[in-house]
Amino acid sequence: MSHDGGHEARAPLERLCMENLLESHEERLYFKDLNSRFLLVSAGWLATEAPGRSLDEVLGKTDFEIFSEPHARAAFEDEQRIIATGRPVVAKIECETYNDRPDVWVSTTKLPLRDADGLIVGTYGISRDVTAQVAAERALAHQAFHDPVTGLPNRFALKDRLDQELLALERRRGGVALAFVDLDDFKSVNDMLGHDAGDEVLVEAGRRLTLASRHGDTVARYGGDEFVLLCPLARHDDDIRLIADRLVRALRTRIELGDGGTTVTCSVGIARYLGAADDAEKLLQRADRAMYRAKADGGDRFHVFDPEAPAAASPRTFDAQLRRAIAEGELFVDYQPLFSFEERSLSGVEALVRWRHPTRGVLAPAQFLAEAERSGLVTGIGAFVLDEAARQLAEWDAHGDVPAGFTVAVNVSARELGTASYASRVAETLARRHVDPSRLCLEVAETALVGAGTAVETTVGELRRIGVAIALDDFGTGCATLAHLRRHTADVLKIDGSVVGQLGDGRGDERARTIIGSVTAMAHALGMSVVGEGVETDDQRAALEALGCDVGQGYLLARPMAPGDVLALRAVIESGEGCPRPHGATPQARHPGRGPRA
Ligand code: C2E
Ligand code: MG
Ligand code: MG
Repeated sequence: MSHDGGHEARAPLERLCMENLLESHEERLYFKDLNSRFLLVSAGWLATEAPGRSLDEVLGKTDFEIFSEPHARAAFEDEQRIIATGRPVVAKIECETYNDRPDVWVSTTKLPLRDADGLIVGTYGISRDVTAQVAAERALAHQAFHDPVTGLPNRFALKDRLDQELLALERRRGGVALAFVDLDDFKSVNDMLGHDAGDEVLVEAGRRLTLASRHGDTVARYGGDEFVLLCPLARHDDDIRLIADRLVRALRTRIELGDGGTTVTCSVGIARYLGAADDAEKLLQRADRAMYRAKADGGDRFHVFDPEAPAAASPRTFDAQLRRAIAEGELFVDYQPLFSFEERSLSGVEALVRWRHPTRGVLAPAQFLAEAERSGLVTGIGAFVLDEAARQLAEWDAHGDVPAGFTVAVNVSARELGTASYASRVAETLARRHVDPSRLCLEVAETALVGAGTAVETTVGELRRIGVAIALDDFGTGCATLAHLRRHTADVLKIDGSVVGQLGDGRGDERARTIIGSVTAMAHALGMSVVGEGVETDDQRAALEALGCDVGQGYLLARPMAPGDVLALRAVIESGEGCPRPHGATPQARHPGRGPRA
């Protein structure tokens, strides 16, 4: 800093520059002396931190005259530490509390203010309002661990709690029991009374199960019509029978609904912690298997898992069936259209696998994918879907059925991504089917990426390098935070239907807006496009569009359908309808109702 002109002459000029700068600066900047008194503040600081006060009213004052006591004290202590040690405070997230208005969350960086000789003469800082971001983080955290319909903890919260209980059992004696509760024939409630009534029944079932549980138990909604009760204190089978009996009876009484009412019963399967070899997955599987026994015996009853009894439908036979399904072409793919809000047109489709089971009818992925993932057969399913989707796209292209940029999205499981050769197999499939990699988007569940090992990250990197787009699927269902978004490089972000479904629903509307608004803004800043999934109402569509979402997908716009129907739909849109209207334009879906989305 040695220009010509002495320090004496420069000082007033520099101060003038500084004052001019600060007078126009919208950021919150401030300078304080050794006693934490304000020396200078920017216009932005004045407007947001001390609205209504003039600069003269602030200079020479301390935080104690502006903020509430606890916040002023915390800031003072930080500044005195900086003065004593010379070490800055960087990007500290703190809550500014005032005496007369709502709290503001800020990210603050404070540094020592030094004179020409390097002596510390005060501090200066810059802070940024991150209230909206903090609100979105909180809403996401809530979303990640709660089921929006019933307000109960969701499956992630349950697994978390169960893991903790099992860990605690390593240190102390005791027990844990799980009751797996599945409503009997819930599908017909949905089909006959509608989804709103179905939701009401779920809420009431959750409430009754909670009432029937004991202090310290956890009742969680596990998926569709499944609930799980976790009893950390149950040690004896008698204990557990008593609880199970209470659960079954709790549901038997009629549920009153707005217009009329209904009766649902449930099947309960119970499994108990049997020793150190047990983990959460094993306990859940045993409770699930016991539940199936209760169901097979006619429902409206419970069954306690018996480690001695041979498994009824052992996974091996299921595996064998699934193996046969892959080999003999029982799997097929439906396509759900995606609509660009801006273009008002079909921008692509998502390939969704189905299983035409010889005796059980058409099965949705939720009914076989989890098991396939466990056994590893999911790799075979994935290879089939990818190949079939590529073949279909090539066929559409060959007939000039779809526009140039039309994309097809294929879901990938965590297990597939973990295999080393996955990226090269994708490249090989695309080459064999003459599909340009840019036409493919691979959807990876957010939960498969968060905490995934380097193998997965490497695969994702390779896929992107060959030009395949990556979508972060089901965002908002896992333990997502906005920070994860930055870390996981993807091209598309898909906001899960459980978040979108809360738009326009009194209880969760504001939370959903907060999440979608912030997540969309951040995704855009990171160069990602945003898809809203599970769009079921016009209000949801409008809200998504208003919040900046690029693409919509959901029953309102179109259900998953056979490839031929996609063309019919496209023809309808191009005949001048624009984005399809809620009814009429969508061909009949082959996939029934909204199943549990595991
Ligand atoms: P996803 O990737 O989130 O796919 C969207 C799911 O939401 C589909 O369920 C779709 O039918 C459903 N959906 C779409 N619009 C609406 C709506 O408006 N309301 C409601 N309630 N649901 C809607 P689907 O076909 O049952 O698939 C479930 C999940 O199974 C998929 O969720 C995906 O994670 C997985 N999946 C499907 N096909 C494959 C596949 O080939 N491989 C792998 N690994 N996973 C797949
Ligand atoms: Mg998907
Ligand atoms: Mg999804």
